[in-house]
Amino acid sequence: MKIDAGVATDVGRVREGNEDAFAIEPPLYAVADGMGGHRGGEVASQLALQTVVERLRAGQGSLADQVQAANRAVYERSATDRKVTGMGTTLTAAIVAGDRAHLVHVGDSRAYLLRAGALRQLTEDHTLVNRMLKAGEITEREAAVHPHRNVILRALGQDPDVAIDEQDVGLIEGDRLLLCSDGLTVMVPEDQLQAILEATAGAPQEAAERLVRAANGAGGIDNITVVVLDLLEGDPPEAGETADDASAPTDTVVTGEEAAEASAVTRRRWFRWGAIAVGVVLAIVVGLTGLRAWLDTRWYVGVSDGRVAIFQGIPADLFGFELSHVTEQTDISASEVMALPLYAELEQGINANSREDAAVHVEQIRKDLRAAQHHTAGSGGGGGTP
Ligand code: MG
Repeated sequence: MKIDAGVATDVGRVREGNEDAFAIEPPLYAVADGMGGHRGGEVASQLALQTVVERLRAGQGSLADQVQAANRAVYERSATDRKVTGMGTTLTAAIVAGDRAHLVHVGDSRAYLLRAGALRQLTEDHTLVNRMLKAGEITEREAAVHPHRNVILRALGQDPDVAIDEQDVGLIEGDRLLLCSDGLTVMVPEDQLQAILEATAGAPQEAAERLVRAANGAGGIDNITVVVLDLLEGDPPEAGETADDASAPTDTVVTGEEAAEASAVTRRRWFRWGAIAVGVVLAIVVGLTGLRAWLDTRWYVGVSDGRVAIFQGIPADLFGFELSHVTEQTDISASEVMALPLYAELEQGINANSREDAAVHVEQIRKDLRAAQHHTAGSGGGGGTP
C-alpha cells in the first residue's frame, strides 16, 4: 500500500510558543509534544524526533530502540543544560510499511485508526486521569474536566530509561491513521474528530488543517499537531526515490516554531503578492480611466445597424470591448453610401476632430448621396431620350 500524508501544526490561541514537533520521514511518521520551562519543551520534542530520525537513517535498532535513545538524549541534555532542566516530551510514532503499522508511544499524544466508519483510539494515555479512570475512581465525564487532567505519568527525558508501549496494527486499503498531540484531543470530542475525518476522505492535508481549525475554534488552549495518513492502493515509492510532492520538507523533523516561521514567511509572501496584485489592478484602473478620457475626445462616422452613424471613441476593440459607442444614428442607408467610391471605406470609420466635425461629415455624405442618386436618375432618364 502507499501512503498519502497530511500534516498541520499550530500554536493554538493561548500559548506563546509551539513546543510540538512532527517528523515525516516515510515510513516513519511521528508527533512529539514537548514540555518544560523557557524553551525546554521545544528543545525536547525536536531533540527526541531528530534522534529517532538519525538512528532510523543509520539503520540502528528497532523503532523502540530509537525511541529509547531519544529518551536518553533528552534526559542527558536536561541534566547537563541548566536552561532546559526538567524538560520532557511525549512521542507517538508509527512505522507504516506494507499492510501494517508498528506503533510506539509514550505520553498523552494519541494514535487513532479510522476504518469503515469507526474511529478507534490505538494508544493509551499515560496520564493520571486515565489511570484513575481505569481504576474506576472517576468517570469519563469527570476525567474530561479533571483539574489534573494534564498530569503526565510517562514522558521522554524524565529517567535514564522509559517504558515504551509498542503494538502492531494490521492495515487495509482505505484505512486512515491519525497521530496527534493532546492539543487536538482535549479540545475536540471524538465524534467531531470522526466527522471531520470522514468529511475529508481522500484529502489528508485538508483533514489535518480542519482538525487544527476545530481545536482552535473550541478555544485552542494548547499547541495542536496533527498527522493524517491515508492508506491507498499501490506501491510505496522505492527507497531513495524522491516523493512526488516537491513541497515535502527536506528537513523531516519540524518543530512547531519552525512551522510557524514558515507560515509567517508564506504570509509575508502572500502579502507581497497581494500588494503587487493591488498595484497591477490600480495601474489597469488608472490606465483604463485615462484611455476612457482620451476615447471621449475621439469621434468618427461609421456604420451602425446598416445606417450611417456618429460614434464617440475609435473604431476598434480591446480584448473584445468596443472602444466606441454610437451617439447619433442617421436615417442614411450605409450600403447606398458605400456604393459611392468616395465612401467605400465608411465601414472602417471616417475620422472626425469633434462631434460638430462628424456632423459636418454626415451632412456632406447626405449631399454626395443625393447628388449621386440625382445623377443616376438623370443619366438613366437621359439614356432613353435622344
Ligand atoms: Mg500538549
